[in-house]
Amino acid sequence: MFPSRRKKQGRGKTPRRSATSALRRALGDNRVRAGAIFLAGLAAVVGMFSCQEGPYRESMELTAHPARIGGQPVIRVAVKTGAVKVDLTCCSALRIKDDRDRSVFETAKAESGLQVSSTPAGWFVGGRLVGGGEYLDIEVSDGSDRGENGVRVDGVGYGKRVVLARESRLSPRFAVVAHMDIETYLAGVLAAEVPFERWHPEALKAQAVASRTYAVYHMKLRVAEPYDVDSTTMSQVYKTGYATNPIVNAAVNATRGQILTFRYRVFPAYFHSTCGGRTEDVSRVFAYNSIGPLSGTACPFCSESPFFCWTRTILKEHLAAKLRETFGSQARIGSVLSIEPIPPIGPAGRPGAFRVLHSSGELIVPATEFRLAVGAGAKDLPSVHLLEIRNRGEAIEFVGRGFGHGVGLCQYGSNALAVSGRDYRQILAFYYPGSELVKLYAM
Ligand SMILES: [Zn+2]
Repeated sequence: MFPSRRKKQGRGKTPRRSATSALRRALGDNRVRAGAIFLAGLAAVVGMFSCQEGPYRESMELTAHPARIGGQPVIRVAVKTGAVKVDLTCCSALRIKDDRDRSVFETAKAESGLQVSSTPAGWFVGGRLVGGGEYLDIEVSDGSDRGENGVRVDGVGYGKRVVLARESRLSPRFAVVAHMDIETYLAGVLAAEVPFERWHPEALKAQAVASRTYAVYHMKLRVAEPYDVDSTTMSQVYKTGYATNPIVNAAVNATRGQILTFRYRVFPAYFHSTCGGRTEDVSRVFAYNSIGPLSGTACPFCSESPFFCWTRTILKEHLAAKLRETFGSQARIGSVLSIEPIPPIGPAGRPGAFRVLHSSGELIVPATEFRLAVGAGAKDLPSVHLLEIRNRGEAIEFVGRGFGHGVGLCQYGSNALAVSGRDYRQILAFYYPGSELVKLYAM
């Protein structure tokens, strides 16, 4: 997530002396292995992963294999969810198949638009009921790859294959899932996640590796689901239309196929806008076991961020309404009287939970859920790294640091490190200590 592109990033910033030794220790841990590790094809790699089910997730096993693999994997990206109707267009003919691989519709040319809708009775294509099934698979019928100008959904192009997948067997609502090469996807992620036109090339490369690692992890985690990632901050933001952009593609191509691993396992390489001084241990934010690369590190490099320090004043009435929206079914929430963090406060300044005192009692809310309920945007509560919570009559004043969940790579810190002369390997080694850069595929 990188919501603010307003304030110009300070350039030429030198890391503070106090953090230099920690940085030096971290540097050198994380190099592309000599004679990079190549892995068997992604299908085989997926077969070698193992996923531990349970209350906590762990990184996925990634067994090294000396064989160089061929092409890049295809990722399934939900570019829209909750849809009931879409308009399809294409510069060529389209073939639509159901989930039993039966061809249910073929257009001579779909330039004028083809409406597809989902009802409890089944899918309608061009006004004709084509039956049930959990998904419809739409491809350019001659198989030609026209880049992002292939299948267009509601006027937006996504490539040569799009799948409409019902969200559940009983729901008519469906997700629009674009299938695309992972490197094409990453160009759209970089364009959406960082202000790429003014970001340092090495910070862009670090972001490309982090985003590729995150994507590969979710490709395994969600192999039985209709899509691997969505295109919002729930996964990582993706925008179509950047497949040929020279700036983002330079960073994607320079790191092609490279991902981070920890003890041969791929992990979700989380990232965020601004940590505010220290990155957070993953286990304090997500249901994920703490591992070295996601255990948190001191980061004095993001002080140029507009979110390094902030104050937000939120009306108590507004807070109560937002808390009722999320927790109202669990408890009756009266007027908000005060809010306080519940110790222990972690080393990155974030409490595990908040206590909300209100006129009908008290509400204990995990910190991450509290922020999501109140609003996680730049103008709401940018983070739960709070220095102070002040009672101001009708309102509560939050004084805090950072923007985002605080786990993994700090984007502003990463850019400052790049400006100061660090390369992307050094940046990744700093924010994911103990991780190893490996090449998953070469072509
Ligand atoms: Zn930082």
